[in-house]
Amino acid sequence: MSATPPAHPPHQIWLYGHPVGHSLSPRIHNAAFKEQKLDFEYAARDVPPPALPDAVAELRSPLVRGANITVPHKQAVTPLLDELGAEASRIGAVNTIVNEDGRLIGHNTDVYGFRQALRSVLPSGASGLACLVLGAGGAARAVVAALVLDGAARIWVANRTLTQAKTLCDSASGWSAVPCVPLALVEAGSFAKRADLIVNATSLGLTDSFKELPLDVDTFHGSQVLLDIVYRGGSTPLVRMAQTKGIVAVDGKEMLLQQAARSYELWTGHKAPLQVMRENIEDRAR
Ligand code: NDP
Repeated sequence: MSATPPAHPPHQIWLYGHPVGHSLSPRIHNAAFKEQKLDFEYAARDVPPPALPDAVAELRSPLVRGANITVPHKQAVTPLLDELGAEASRIGAVNTIVNEDGRLIGHNTDVYGFRQALRSVLPSGASGLACLVLGAGGAARAVVAALVLDGAARIWVANRTLTQAKTLCDSASGWSAVPCVPLALVEAGSFAKRADLIVNATSLGLTDSFKELPLDVDTFHGSQVLLDIVYRGGSTPLVRMAQTKGIVAVDGKEMLLQQAARSYELWTGHKAPLQVMRENIEDRAR
């Protein structure tokens, strides 16, 4: 006898990016839906920039519960939505969309993900710390927003393209009174010595490309913390190098987990099964 077909197809969650083939998100979310026996299905779709408006319109279907948005669409998607949550509105970037009866609400869970990841090594987060952020792209915007919310003492943003660092610091000065100083990337080395927290939010770091960063790990000292938000392929070379110097250093897997958990909760209303999600990240990273 054949099994009874389900009364309705599973609720769809899509990931839109370009490219998306490398993403761990389908694996993480589908494992969590299975664990909690929820009738949801997560799939990645490669959406080139000209196709984004039509792809977003499809999210209004009653069959679709929402989406994750990744590079290069996080900022471009914002004007296509009906409403933005507080963090998405503040930083002008969306990584999660929820379809509420045809209305699309944009959220940014990278800010939450970074704050939680930081707390896994620093219980008080960035409160009172001098922070150096390398990079000024979409992820760096979320990092700086998180540092501001945490009450960092000061933030230096070092980027290859100085104008991008200036733009990010201009935004940050509209978010709070925490001083934010833009730097050219070549200046990062000297500021790294003075920073309590160093965050790599550039896309360098998956391979030996991290050596292009002007950081001298020999100058790192024991009271510093390094968070490299890059996560593919196990611990990053920068994290491993920093750990040999005895400093607390973590890669981006915890941030990935925490932002995914928050998105999951927004779509399903269920508390995310962190352990299952974590195992699916670790398995792939080995
Ligand atoms: P963007 O493309 O928006 O920004 C890339 C950043 O890297 C820019 O600051 C860019 O500088 C810099 N950069 C790129 N190539 C070089 C280079 N050769 N030398 C120096 N700087 C360089 O990407 P995102 O901000 O969205 O993502 C950045 C990284 O963060 C990615 O590796 C991504 O996977 C990771 N990430 C991790 C998350 C997590 O949950 N752990 C969440 C989101 C992102 P310039 O402005 O000069 O081009």
